[in-house]
Amino acid sequence: MFDHTVSELAALLRDRKVSSEELAALFLGRIERLGGGLNAFITVDAEKALASARAADARLARGEATPLTGIPIAHKDLFCARGWKTTCGSRMLADWVSPYDAHVVEQFDRAGAVLVGKTNMDEFAMGSSNESSFFGPARNPWDPSRVPGGSSGGSAAAVAARLVPAATGTDTGGSIRQPASLTGTSGIRPTYGAVSRYGMVAFASSLDQGGAFGKSAEDLALMLNVMAGFDERDSTSVERPKEDYARDLARPLAGLRVGLPKQYFTADLAPDVASCVMAGVEELERQGATLVEVNLPNQALAVPVYYVIAPAEASSNLSRFDGARYGHRAAGYADLNDMYRKSRAEGFGAEVRRRILVGTYVLSHGYYDAYYLQAQKVRRLIARDFAGAFASCDVIAGPAAPTVAFPIGEKTSDPVQMYLEDLYTISVNLAGLPGLSVPCGFGEGGLPVGLQLIGNYFDEARMLNVAHRFQQATDWHRRSPPGYGS
Ligand code: GLN
Repeated sequence: MFDHTVSELAALLRDRKVSSEELAALFLGRIERLGGGLNAFITVDAEKALASARAADARLARGEATPLTGIPIAHKDLFCARGWKTTCGSRMLADWVSPYDAHVVEQFDRAGAVLVGKTNMDEFAMGSSNESSFFGPARNPWDPSRVPGGSSGGSAAAVAARLVPAATGTDTGGSIRQPASLTGTSGIRPTYGAVSRYGMVAFASSLDQGGAFGKSAEDLALMLNVMAGFDERDSTSVERPKEDYARDLARPLAGLRVGLPKQYFTADLAPDVASCVMAGVEELERQGATLVEVNLPNQALAVPVYYVIAPAEASSNLSRFDGARYGHRAAGYADLNDMYRKSRAEGFGAEVRRRILVGTYVLSHGYYDAYYLQAQKVRRLIARDFAGAFASCDVIAGPAAPTVAFPIGEKTSDPVQMYLEDLYTISVNLAGLPGLSVPCGFGEGGLPVGLQLIGNYFDEARMLNVAHRFQQATDWHRRSPPGYGS
């Protein structure tokens, strides 16, 4: 039963074939038995989970269930959840218990989902491997000597290992799609503004967006139905009518135009990944889609532009962690400035400090125009490239990550190599577009590969439709890592 999708589990709950309490116990048991080596969770709370499962059972009995009622889920540990530790993978917040719920957490609660735990992540979501977590790296269930990707590595590993049927994540530069690709899970980053950022600890506010991991595109649609929607507490939340993201899942692909950016299929892409992605694209073609080449001329500038803008925003967002209001405070200090300095030096890890330094530098007088302003201009060009591409196609297809999962430790001493992990995801964030990754095969070492689909603004239903049709014809998303399947 742990291999089931959310929609299958929802049917079993509805038909009283299983109770929510039994489901919670099943997954909590797996976390205890199999989860230790993966370090996918920072916090698991069996007591809270079982209590909310019992409440879900009562609701199911009353006939007031939603598709998520009684389903165990996990939240990335940067979503504030009342009464839960919310660490952001950082020593800075290692003991911080949130006094309030993020919008996303509130929505899942309201739907009756059962929160079992908070997942491991790169510190403040900065990273592509989960190795920058203060709590140690999460591991990839397909090969525990390898990374699960990042920064939402814990959520990806937990879903891949069937420790939980679905989980939330956030994607600022690729942190849902890249780990989904590396762990053989499905993951979606919605359009910027579709999911409220209220209570989601900020990294780079103009790029951050909450999204979901699951085993299937259909499950992602069910999750988005819960998460998305206007929230006045987030000033960038877009006011538009609620929509049903599952409405078009079954629509045939005949007539669909799939854009293939020529800049995505170059020597930067590992051959094993390229061949799985192309096989995936051929499946879409077999179902009636037509392929068109599209041009994203500024693609090569996406990573450099991101590494000006994201650190700039991060340096501002992270200034609130000063040891005074909340978070880590150094034990001994001479005066106020010394307290700030010591608390921040001790509370933040190396990657976070690097970003704060870079961000402060590019925003400083004399460099602002040369770096930050210039980056903003190129960002606009990148968005324009996508607008041009969507004039001739409905969705864009390509890889989500340049390689399969890499060994733990391989890129930690070379930040640029780590940054290049997001070569195919980052421009989507800069443009504010939605993107998803679904499993499309296995590359070197039998490790999973993801097919990325990029949609136009608020075209999630179409992307999910394409992903669902793809999954109706393939079974890559049904494969589980050895030792974690049935
Ligand atoms: N890997 C990118 C970074 O380190 C993106 C992270 C993310 O999407 N949160 O900034």
